[in-house]
Amino acid sequence: MSAQHPKYLWLNGERLNWNDATVHITELGWSTVGAVFEGIRAYWNEDQQELFVYRLQEHLERLERSMKLVRLPLAYSVSDLTSAIIDLLRENGSAEDTYIYPMAYTADSYNHRFDKPDQAAGLVIHTKPMASHLGKGLAYNARVSSWRRISEDVMPPRVKNLSNYRNGQLARLEALQDGYDTAFLLNNVGKVAEAPGACVMHVRDGKIVTPDLQSSVLESITREALITIAREQLGLTVDERPVDRTELYVADEIFLCGTAAEITPVVSVDRYQVGNGEIGPITKAIEIAYEASLRGTDGSYTDWRTPVGVRSAVAAQ
Ligand code: PMP
Repeated sequence: MSAQHPKYLWLNGERLNWNDATVHITELGWSTVGAVFEGIRAYWNEDQQELFVYRLQEHLERLERSMKLVRLPLAYSVSDLTSAIIDLLRENGSAEDTYIYPMAYTADSYNHRFDKPDQAAGLVIHTKPMASHLGKGLAYNARVSSWRRISEDVMPPRVKNLSNYRNGQLARLEALQDGYDTAFLLNNVGKVAEAPGACVMHVRDGKIVTPDLQSSVLESITREALITIAREQLGLTVDERPVDRTELYVADEIFLCGTAAEITPVVSVDRYQVGNGEIGPITKAIEIAYEASLRGTDGSYTDWRTPVGVRSAVAAQ
């Protein structure tokens, strides 16, 4: 792998050298308005010298649902794409924490600027090294955004359509501009929805609370994993229900969760300190259990991890 990017990526069924995977400049723009994508992580286990892709099947099933929603045809099965991703990671010799980014877009948008239901799709998968920030003490100061989260009456918030992401970008840029690290977006009825690119959980009186799936949130895989871990491994109560803005201000602990966000504690909201302003004990416990499930260090949730076989592939080359 070169310093800047991996050697290969995958485009429409073929493994290509990174620099050979090109499309014409006229495809810029409209091809991505209806595009959908996935953000997947693979974690390196140093003891086992193995890379594990986390919840690969669930991510690919969500890609299928996203494509269905934007009416892009998928020419590959979940099992084809699983093999494509595993092979790509092996061929790139990815022996480190890695982000995997499949994106389906409208092909030939020069001729078909306005999408038709039977539009041809292109599918590209690329990877990049992305170290985990778990356990490194990252914590955010957040604000409640003046932007509202997109809702079902405008765009489908449950799926990963690229156009949805302008909403979170506006909220994040506004937050950064005003000296915060991130933002909480309320939904169209004023309840808490999400942060840009991440779901939200808070803790009050030892109980975890998170906006339900009808609150205009993405159908997040991390959210579901953490609910399972909190209930099954930590014996905690998790309530999925509409969440008021004020609940953020009076929470004992708050954290963001998502594939890229992993678990990111929030220590203040609109300059109200959360708890004692430190990363809370329940957040910490969930973070430890989550990391073990990602890296496969405690044998939990084996079926959540797909081993890649990077070392054996490198040895065979
Ligand atoms: N909401 C949005 C808008 C996101 O982009 C993400 C990241 N994919 C999440 C929530 C968290 O979802 P997941 O846990 O599946 O990564």
